[in-house]
Amino acid sequence: STASPVSLVTGANRGIGRETARQLAALGHTVLLCARRLEDAEQAVADLAPGVPGTLLPYRLDVTDADDVITLARNVEKEFGLLDILVNNAAINYDTAQRAVFADLDEVRRTLETNLFGAWRTAQTFLPLLRRSPHPRLVNVSSESGSLEHMSGGTPAYGVSKAALNTLTRKLADELLAERILVNAVCPGWIATDMGGPGGGPVEQGAASVVWAATLPDSGPTGGFFREGEPLAW
Ligand code: NDP
Repeated sequence: STASPVSLVTGANRGIGRETARQLAALGHTVLLCARRLEDAEQAVADLAPGVPGTLLPYRLDVTDADDVITLARNVEKEFGLLDILVNNAAINYDTAQRAVFADLDEVRRTLETNLFGAWRTAQTFLPLLRRSPHPRLVNVSSESGSLEHMSGGTPAYGVSKAALNTLTRKLADELLAERILVNAVCPGWIATDMGGPGGGPVEQGAASVVWAATLPDSGPTGGFFREGEPLAW
């Protein structure tokens, strides 16, 4: 097909998600820029759209709200009939405890609700639309703090959520292998956003790692964990 790919990015009103949406639109994609608050999505689109050849469209999506995800999928089906690229970017990192032995389990639960279940339900709900794409790609934006080799470096709820997201990535990749849906996890690296704080790298660099996985050729990898196109240790 020569139609421009339809891409969806969650949590795209700020940070790495916003820049990922911009970079995909710069490639000419039709990008569904999703945010918890519609006005935040609209603001991001207003800021970014003039600079890119692709089309940016604002949508409201709270990934912890199943009805929200279902409603959006119905709208995307009506508008476009398919989805080519899903980027599960939305996440929170509110750990107040630095050690698992002291973690507040309600906080852990809230973290998993967004970082794991949010990505999981979004993937499940959009799968029928991804299946209609000639080149479907699913990217889970994860973190090396979910790596079992770097676990000591991260806070407990966030680290556990990303380790679980990595496991989910492997499972989905295996299950969708025969359907040629490429599913990968990406660590953007330490990036200066609201979450990353000052001192990290530029958002352009973090988003480039995500866009790499979102635009893999059909011969590209699946079931991997990458930063800047290089494999990371699980
Ligand atoms: P930010 O905190 O800057 O942005 C997070 C985005 O996620 C915001 O748009 C936020 O929306 C959105 N979000 C949070 N909860 C929900 C929800 N329930 N539904 C929909 N959207 C939601 O984070 P970053 O840009 O830094 O992070 C992006 C991704 O990169 C995350 O997955 C993060 O874990 C990962 N990452 C980041 C690193 C870094 O150094 N920055 C390092 C490693 C990984 P709102 O504005 O409404 O809060």
